[in-house]
Amino acid sequence: MPANSVSVSDILRASICPMQLYLAKSSPADFSEPLRYSVAKQISYHLGDELDAAEIREELKLTIPDCGEEAFRVLDEMLAACRKVTWRQALTYDMQVDSGKYNIHGRVDRVFDDSFSIIKGGKAPTHGVYASDRLQAVCYSICLEEMYGKEFYGRIEYLGSGTIRSVVLSPSDKRVFLTALKEVEKVRRGEVPRPIRGEKCKRCRFAEKCRPLEKPHTLLERLKKK
Ligand code: SF4
Repeated sequence: MPANSVSVSDILRASICPMQLYLAKSSPADFSEPLRYSVAKQISYHLGDELDAAEIREELKLTIPDCGEEAFRVLDEMLAACRKVTWRQALTYDMQVDSGKYNIHGRVDRVFDDSFSIIKGGKAPTHGVYASDRLQAVCYSICLEEMYGKEFYGRIEYLGSGTIRSVVLSPSDKRVFLTALKEVEKVRRGEVPRPIRGEKCKRCRFAEKCRPLEKPHTLLERLKKK
């Protein structure tokens, strides 16, 4: 994989707001993981097998040493939701995938011989899947198809509600992917994106740093100012 390969997480961030990606590149990396996601990931290794609460609890204590009662409460809630559904056991987990054609890479949670699953800690939307989950599925299907020379279909597994949703990709999904990829490339070239301003800003960790720029600055100019 080339050193300049674009991560799927950067593509997802650029699709939410290119300015978010721009600001993330000039901020210290945030390695913290949302609690619900950590719990869902731990459960995911047991899907298709017995969902033994005591065993998963012990694994959680190892992976998140400071996890407290809240983690166990979330675990019990998710297990109750997941036990209502029949799950397939994956062939492999956390598989590194990449596409030389688009110069992108990522890691797929669960891979089967004909498909893959993306794990989410939240609940499923009323219908379909969330837009960023769909984009994530596009990225992984592009990588897997290039690696194995056959089609892979994706599904999103929302462990918060024990819901499995298949993703049927359309040409417009590929267009969304290409647009987001171009935004990443622009940021990499040092172009300053326009802030989108909207609902997404309320949940953005860069809201404090994100101000309208009177005159566009390149990344080089911003670094010189520090
Ligand atoms: S505050 Fe809003 S416009 Fe600024 S980076 Fe975040 S999401 Fe984008």
